[in-house]
Order: sequence, then structure tokens, then C-alpha cells
Amino acid sequence: MPNVPITVAHGDGIGPEIMAATLRILEAAQARIDVETIEIGEKVYRDGITAGIRAEAWGSLRRTKVFLKSPITTPQGGGYKSLNVTVRKTLGLYANVRPCVSYHPIVRTKHPEMDVVIVRENEEDLYAGIEHRQTDDCCQTLKLVTRPGTEKIVRYAFEYARKNKRQKVTCFSKDNIMKLTDGLFHKIFDEIAAEYDDIKNEHWIIDIGSAKLANKPEQFDIIVTSNLYGDIISDIAAEITGSVGLGGSANIGESCAMFEAIHGSAPDIAGKGIANPSGLLLGAVMMLVHIGQSDVAETIHNAWLTTLEEGVHTGDIAGDETRERVGTDGFADAVIARLGRRPTRLKAVDYDRSTSCFALPPATRRPRAAKRTVGCDIFLHDGDRTPDELGVILESLPVAGAKIQMITNRGVKVWPGGMPETFKVDHWRCRFLFDDSISNAHQAIIDLLAAIRAAGLDFIKTENLCTFDGEPGYSLGQGQ
Ligand code: NAD
Repeated sequence: MPNVPITVAHGDGIGPEIMAATLRILEAAQARIDVETIEIGEKVYRDGITAGIRAEAWGSLRRTKVFLKSPITTPQGGGYKSLNVTVRKTLGLYANVRPCVSYHPIVRTKHPEMDVVIVRENEEDLYAGIEHRQTDDCCQTLKLVTRPGTEKIVRYAFEYARKNKRQKVTCFSKDNIMKLTDGLFHKIFDEIAAEYDDIKNEHWIIDIGSAKLANKPEQFDIIVTSNLYGDIISDIAAEITGSVGLGGSANIGESCAMFEAIHGSAPDIAGKGIANPSGLLLGAVMMLVHIGQSDVAETIHNAWLTTLEEGVHTGDIAGDETRERVGTDGFADAVIARLGRRPTRLKAVDYDRSTSCFALPPATRRPRAAKRTVGCDIFLHDGDRTPDELGVILESLPVAGAKIQMITNRGVKVWPGGMPETFKVDHWRCRFLFDDSISNAHQAIIDLLAAIRAAGLDFIKTENLCTFDGEPGYSLGQGQ
């Protein structure tokens, strides 16, 4: 088999030290790879490239499709884009996979049995980055959840479970509140779970689910969830294993993948030769599995576990079990010296030789639903008027067939029949419903906007109210 080309970035802070150690271990274990090096991060940012990555680096990534990346330092201040988010979204790396494993009794933890994999959706949700300031008082961000995006991540979680002989996939969502967005995520989870009768499935509301994860993580096996929840719970899960510094993570796309440590560039210890290379090394182990070199991955992983259990530790995990305290290079030497050995106190890993990257079936596009626009929500910026004053103006707009139904403020109905106790800001959602006399809904919305403007009000956005195959595609107002 020819060597597999991979792209490597040494990153910032402790990045170059831990990458050198990791590459040395990969070489000693005879990983069948050819390394192409690119520069990313602080220096590139300082050269005025706000994305932190140069155009030519994309060429390497698109050629090799496999990226082993050290952490980088994101400069403080505005104008700099997160390199991680840029790489994930540009290369379509939709699945963030973080195994969170306890190494009891070597690394102190309250959860000795913990072995959870968090599969986080990586591209959508609140990370779409579509934010606006709409009024003096109010900013908004759009939470986007799509059927194809959710199908991909949920199916990935079940396929991962099957390939890695895992027993159960748990979905976390908040669909009791966000019935459309998180509701779609949960619904698709149920649909796809039904296709995998060999794997148990369950759903938890994210709040109680996270509490259970923090208290009894051994109850969970694989957790699949959307972007923001996944971001938060994967750090919690990594931390309660005993050390966030030991975690590796994979970002998987349909054609490309990126592997890294969970931790950052640790500028406080950069250049001291004391950083623990384990997080990046475990990221590299995931990469080896991905490129079909499970044999090498298993050799390195077991040598690393043996190093840990024999008490050769970097300072960050040193404790009662430590026999020899080493720096970054000393740790790499210790792992290399143990290649070919398996741990006896910690659980050895055995990778299925067929567990390389797996292709998901393409997302199926559903037949278009019959869509009908039955009204629209028009949002106003108004810091002066009361709900009743707004109601009087909006009731008298000269648009036949369009009738104001309600006004809400931060989602709560304040007209008609609002309560004086409700706290209000300068951001109003005004819901208009159309009767059957309106045959051209888009024209009616344009007419409404013109009338609102003529009445001296400041509209800031509209949202169409549509039914899809007769089902309302919008939520009710609170108190409606
Ligand atoms: P950090 O993870 O870099 O450091 C947190 C603490 O953990 C520090 O005390 C550090 O010394 C320690 N630590 C981290 N990794 C270690 C290791 N391998 N060995 C021993 N100790 C280790 O988090 P931070 O300080 O919040 O962030 C520093 C920089 O890293 C920031 O610029 C941030 O934007 C960036 N960052 C990058 C990534 C990435 O590139 N994937 C991820 C997170 C943070």
C-alpha cells in the first residue's frame, strides 16, 4: 500500500512541541504517511490574513483531504475569524467526534467507568454566524437546523456506533421549547434510530441530560447533539474524565477530515518543553483509524496506555501514580519505548481492522411539500409607543384581507389583552394573518410594509407564515 499523504500544521504556543513529539511517535510506529506541512494561525493572522490560513494551504488540504492540526492562538480583538470554524465549514466537516474516556486509577476522576463519545453537529445551529443588531435594545442570532444536516450527523452517530461496537446512541435536544428546530432534530433522530434495531436509542432534554452526564456518565455510550449543546457538553465530558488535556477529537466530512487535540495552544507553558502531547497523539490515532491504518493506531494507543499506567507522566497529570515525571520529549520517548506492548491495568484497545472512514448514503431530498403563505410576522423597532398604540395603528392599515392578530414582545403576547406586568423592550413582533381573499401573499406583504412605512413605523424584518402540507411552519406566541 502506498503511503497516505496528510497535511500537518504545527500551530502556535505549545503546538510545535506537541506536534514534533506526535510525529516522532507516528514515525517510530511506522505509520504509512507522507507529511505536507502548511502554516496556519498567529503568524498568518498577523500578516493580515483574517482567516488565519493562506490560499495555498487550502490546496494542500483539498489534495490530501486529511489534516492533522496543532492548536493555534486566535489573536484577541475584532476582525479575526476563527480558523477552526472556517476550516470546518469550508471543508464541510459536519461531525465533531470526541471520545471522553477515564483512565482510572492513573488519572484521578470521580467517574472511573466513563467511556462516552460525543458526536456534535459541526456546521449549523447557532454557529451559522448570522447575527444582527435590530434595535437599540435587541440583537438576534439565527438558529438554523436543516433536515439534510441533521440526517447526516444522526446517521453518522449510528454508523459510528455500529462500526465501533457501541450499544446505545442518546440524542440531546431542547424540543420542549424549540419545537420546530430542536423538534426537527429529535424527529429525524427517531426516524433514523428506527433503521438501526441492533443499537439502543433514547432521547433526553439537554438540561436534565447534561446533569445526568455530569453525575453518572457511565449511563451513556454515544451522545449525538446539535452544535452549541455539543460544544458545551463535550468540554464538560472531557473535563470529568479527569483531564481535558488528554482528549483528541476528529472533525469528519464527506471528503475531508481534520484531527486535533481538544485543548488550546497553552501560551503560558509554550517553549518550556513540558506540554503533554497526549491530546494531539490521540487525535492522530483517530486519524490513523480514518485512513485505514487501525493496526498502527492500535499499536500507538496501547503503547500510550502502557506509558500512562507505568507512571511516566507529564506535569499536568502527575499524581500519586507517577513514577517518573517527564517533559514533552521524554514522554514521546517513553511511548516509543513501549510500542508493541499492551496495558494490563488500563483497558487495552482493539481496533476493528475495517473501522476506517465510512461513507454515509447521500441525504435524500424529500418531495416538496405543498406550501401556502397564510400570513406574516413583521418586526418593528419602536421605543416610544405602547402595545395599545401600536395595535390601533396596525388595525387600521389599508390592506384588504390582511388582519393584525397579535403583537408580542420578546415572544410574549402584549396585544390584544396584554398584562401590565410584562417587561417590554423596543422590539415588537406583529403577526398578520391573511384571509382567502388574498391570492398573492407576497404582494400583500409588500403592501403591508408600504402601509407600515406610510404610518411612520420602522419595520426591521419580516418572516413569512407558511403551512407545509397543511402543518403550520411557525410557533404560537407565548400566551396566545
Ligand atoms: P488552553 O487549552 O490552551 O489552556 C488551558 C490550560 O491548560 C492552561 O493552563 C494550559 O497550560 C493547560 N494546558 C493545555 N494544554 C496542555 C497540554 N497539552 N499540556 C499541559 N497543559 C496544558 O486554553 P486557553 O488558555 O483558554 O487558550 C489559549 C489559546 O488557545 C487561545 O488563543 C485560544 O483561542 C486557543 N485555542 C485554540 C484551540 C484550537 O486551536 N483547537 C482550542 C482552544 C483554544
